[in-house]
Amino acid sequence: MNTNMQKVIHNGKDRNMSDQIKKGLEKNKKTNILEFIKKNKLLSAVILIYGILLIAAPDKGLLSLKNSMYYVKEMLMVMPAIFILTLIIDAWVPKELILKSLGEKSGIKGGILSLAFGSLSAGPLYAAFPMCKMLLNKGASIANIVIILSSWAVIKVPMLANEAKFLGVKFMSMRWVLTVISIFVMAYILSKIVKKEDMPIAQAASSKQEEIVSGEIVAIAVKKHYCIGCGMCEDLAPKNFEINGKKAIVKNEKINDGDQMTKIKEIIDKCPVKAIYLK
Ligand code: SF4
Repeated sequence: MNTNMQKVIHNGKDRNMSDQIKKGLEKNKKTNILEFIKKNKLLSAVILIYGILLIAAPDKGLLSLKNSMYYVKEMLMVMPAIFILTLIIDAWVPKELILKSLGEKSGIKGGILSLAFGSLSAGPLYAAFPMCKMLLNKGASIANIVIILSSWAVIKVPMLANEAKFLGVKFMSMRWVLTVISIFVMAYILSKIVKKEDMPIAQAASSKQEEIVSGEIVAIAVKKHYCIGCGMCEDLAPKNFEINGKKAIVKNEKINDGDQMTKIKEIIDKCPVKAIYLK
């Protein structure tokens, strides 16, 4: 075989390889896009709607885009401050204090504190969500979170002052009284319907630890739809967890000693999507 023929064969092999690499990259791109859509269904639906609107009615599409950008800008200005405040409270306020003041056993005192917290806060309602998630993680009850969110939304003090100015003190006071009653009723009902296991938060493991101490056996579980299969739980507690089909499953769900509980508590805190909880 002469040198020219060898070069042709060699070039042909190179072309085949680069075609295969290109195909592989394209396949990867498609898989990544599909995974992104799967993980961000709501965002993908919004992008799709904007796309359709921009094609079907460009004027309206541009106007909606402009309005949305206004809110995105507002969020970008508010959220960093909220995240910093949330991190400060998370780091400095002990879990025990949140449990005592806003937890399941905080009673009417917890309700009043939540009402004051929500009423005296400032900023748009969406700023309250990260804060409330942090409080839930630290042991606040669902009822108190409902009270914080609802009072943040409808009976903030600066809002009441404006309401009194425009609609009169009598109207404002009556609305405040009736709203507060409704908020407490709603908090009670919601706390009976929604359980912490239904929410993407870490469970209050300390109360479960108390159950272990008192002789009750506690079990672990994983919310499969939240799990991203990072494998951290399997690495730290291979006796309890294993990765199966890119999701964590529980091999041994019972926890019946304090040391094991400490480890599980650490894993619950570390799970990036808060998929592990105690039953
Ligand atoms: S640590 Fe959480 S996200 Fe990671 S595999 Fe375990 S359950 Fe899934």
